[in-house]
Amino acid sequence: MRAEGIETVRRILCVFPRYTSSFGTFEHAYPLTDGVQAFMPPQGLLLIAAYLPANWPVRFVDENLRPATKEDFEWAEAVFVSGMHIQRQQMNDICRRAHAFDLSVAIGGPSVSACPDYYPSFDYLHVGELGDATNELFARLAQDPSRPEQQVVLTTKDRIAMTDFPIPAYELAEVKKYFLGSIQYSSGCPYQCEFCDIPGLYGRNPRLKSPGQIIAELDKLRECGVTGSVYFVDDNFIGNRKAALDLLPHLVEWQKKTGYVMRLACEATLNIAKRPEILEKMREAFFVTIFCGIETPDPDALKAMHKDHNMMVPILEGVRTINSYGMEVVSGIIMGLDTDKPETGEALLAFVEESQIPLLTINLLQALPKTPLWDRLAREGRLLEEEEGRDSNVAFLLPYDQVVDSWRKCMEVAYAPEKLFARYQHQCEYTYTQRLKIPVTPEQKSWANIKRGLIMLRNIFWKVGVLGDYRRVFWKFALGRLRRGDIEGLIASSMIAHHLIMFARAASVGQQSASNYSIRLREASVPAE
Ligand code: SF4
Repeated sequence: MRAEGIETVRRILCVFPRYTSSFGTFEHAYPLTDGVQAFMPPQGLLLIAAYLPANWPVRFVDENLRPATKEDFEWAEAVFVSGMHIQRQQMNDICRRAHAFDLSVAIGGPSVSACPDYYPSFDYLHVGELGDATNELFARLAQDPSRPEQQVVLTTKDRIAMTDFPIPAYELAEVKKYFLGSIQYSSGCPYQCEFCDIPGLYGRNPRLKSPGQIIAELDKLRECGVTGSVYFVDDNFIGNRKAALDLLPHLVEWQKKTGYVMRLACEATLNIAKRPEILEKMREAFFVTIFCGIETPDPDALKAMHKDHNMMVPILEGVRTINSYGMEVVSGIIMGLDTDKPETGEALLAFVEESQIPLLTINLLQALPKTPLWDRLAREGRLLEEEEGRDSNVAFLLPYDQVVDSWRKCMEVAYAPEKLFARYQHQCEYTYTQRLKIPVTPEQKSWANIKRGLIMLRNIFWKVGVLGDYRRVFWKFALGRLRRGDIEGLIASSMIAHHLIMFARAASVGQQSASNYSIRLREASVPAE
């Protein structure tokens, strides 16, 4: 569905702000690929672009690929921006640049919806999801695209059902330049983990698209040139278990029909391990990775943060169960919790070793607005200004330096090349072997696909195997994969491992922020031009 009933034509420039170096965006892996330059196409802006009145010309610029130019701004009559808290500085910078051309600038998305006061310079704030506020914004711009005298705040009260969402305008994005394709089936999560802003922003009763929409989106992603991996960006893929079970047979059919062209990944709560009927279907649909917010292996800490659902099965058992369906677990971990003790870092490293999870995003606790954690810390007087040169806005119960030292040590040890490749070796033997044996399709045998693989192999062999300082460890792993003819496993593991090793090295000497949400080391990236 599109916005309707608007005759006047307006030219809209959608600009997605840059990310800076982050553990979860894999930029150290890009030079090993065949031309990847950014992480994932942004769902929100591409959705808005697709919802614009049909007669409104639209341009989309992802500043992770190239900056919006003078020519873009001169072409536009209004600018739309969207992003997350960590892109706040970059979003305000886009606004400043657009104002230099006297353009109206509107901001929507998760950050402004949680914190409208982060964005005092924007002309229009779109708070909430796609809905009546969106229609109102379009109507105002249709009537008069010039900058309003005062900031206008439009808040969605009546949301558009996700079953009426148009397919995001993937055709506007240069999808081949992204590390992963992205897709969204549901929004919201029934749980209420203390630190998480998802239930507050998107509700506890997940909203859904229809399976037919997802299949149409996959077709479109494919048409646009996405090959490889597609990530379901849903907050919790099993937030509505029945809906997940409804969707999976459609995914299985689509994969069979297309020859399993996509490897799928998603985020889900660890209690998915209790649902063999879901895991079996996910295996059949060729899901290969699940991101689980394990957060901490400490049961007391999980209880304190209201994440008891992580304990519905013993954590290590849950990880092994998921692995047994061929899916690698990626884990989110938080340090700096009130329940942390001086020995928490050691316990975490023991967990990394036992779980054999290769990729864990280890972050310092950060209080996000609109969360129970934020409210509690505000009551306790433990919320700090970000400008104080810290990587967290939380006054920890342990001394700050002790928490950061412990984080650095964990990064250094967990991502030492020998340890990391040993965990990947374990995954190759115990997880990847459980995956569906997919038939080789003509598409996979095509020259374009073979060429892609050869380029990546050449880059990996040269940049890691010849020039890399951990080449001995790499070759031990690589030769094992080559002997088994597992080229795909070799490429995928080596690329991710390279990013993790490089990022962790910078982190362990203080050159990276200890939180994905911290903006301490992110300001240097502004402006984009
Ligand atoms: S389960 Fe995940 S998405 Fe749901 S509230 Fe907890 S952290 Fe947020």
